[in-house]
Amino acid sequence: MRLEVTELPEPKIGATDVLIRVRACGICGSDVHGLDGSTGRRIPPLVMGHEAAGTIAAVGQEVHGWSQGDRVTFDSTISCGDCSFCRRGQINLCDRRQVLGVSCGDYRRHGAFTEFVAVPARILYRLPDSLPFDHAAMIEAVSVAVHAVSLTPHERGDAAVVIGCGMIGQLTIQAAKAAGFGVVIAADVDDARVEMARQAGADSALNSGTCDLQLEVRARTGGRGADAVLEAVGLTQSVQTAVACVRKGGTVTLVGNLAPSIELPLQEVVTRQIRLQGSCASAGEYPACIELLASGAIRVDHLISARTSLADAAGWFTRLYRREPNLMKVIVEP
Ligand SMILES: [Zn+2]
Ligand SMILES: [Zn+2]
Repeated sequence: MRLEVTELPEPKIGATDVLIRVRACGICGSDVHGLDGSTGRRIPPLVMGHEAAGTIAAVGQEVHGWSQGDRVTFDSTISCGDCSFCRRGQINLCDRRQVLGVSCGDYRRHGAFTEFVAVPARILYRLPDSLPFDHAAMIEAVSVAVHAVSLTPHERGDAAVVIGCGMIGQLTIQAAKAAGFGVVIAADVDDARVEMARQAGADSALNSGTCDLQLEVRARTGGRGADAVLEAVGLTQSVQTAVACVRKGGTVTLVGNLAPSIELPLQEVVTRQIRLQGSCASAGEYPACIELLASGAIRVDHLISARTSLADAAGWFTRLYRREPNLMKVIVEP
């Protein structure tokens, strides 16, 4: 598929929508992988982009409480508010969810790599003046980490291992600390990411390619293993390592899913009574994430590798697609 910068008419807004002037929008891994058609979720023509922040340019007739100039971000997912999952608060599992910047056969919903985007007012969140737009564009990624930690049973002072120190792993380390984990051990097979994990606040950051992670974790947890492991890779080997590092009765929270299927050490999971918890996107954590960013409890500045204009964005998609080393988040500023 081909990326193109083109002129589109300003989107029309419905009575319950707002028009947002986009100031920052992050390039997501799902946009980069979607480009080659392999995911079937970026069928052209489509404006991609779902990790955005900006100011309100216009409000629909029935919108109350918002006005022109308000600084906002918005949920990447539009849930229906009405199905049985939405009514349980599991808006990430909504039967009729649409993701901005996705077109997949069932629907096409233009996203935010553009000057103006129309979104329903009910998915808006107000940004404090102190939070810059490029940091706000990281909220979706932060919310994935915060959601995973919130699904992981823990008590204050517990020990956690975070496997995989890419973008989500780096944020999960910080989210785990902010949620009260006393010891956070981070592991990756890339030295640069291990070093970043240390800077992100991990108590230990280890290269799991060159050490025996299970031994190292046991040495730091009184021989028991970690109370929780958050797995942000999603390959057979990394999930097996996660199971090996968790204590009896502990939880492995699965966030990464690089491989659609893996080989699971079933007997170990059953006999050591390990809880496996899947975690997808987020469900209402945006306000908490705005707080965590505004207070500095979670920092994202060091995870932004570059800022680019719309005109130069295509080149960054290519660099991200080629997996250029040490490239984390690229923010498009229309
Ligand atoms: Zn995303
Ligand atoms: Zn729903």
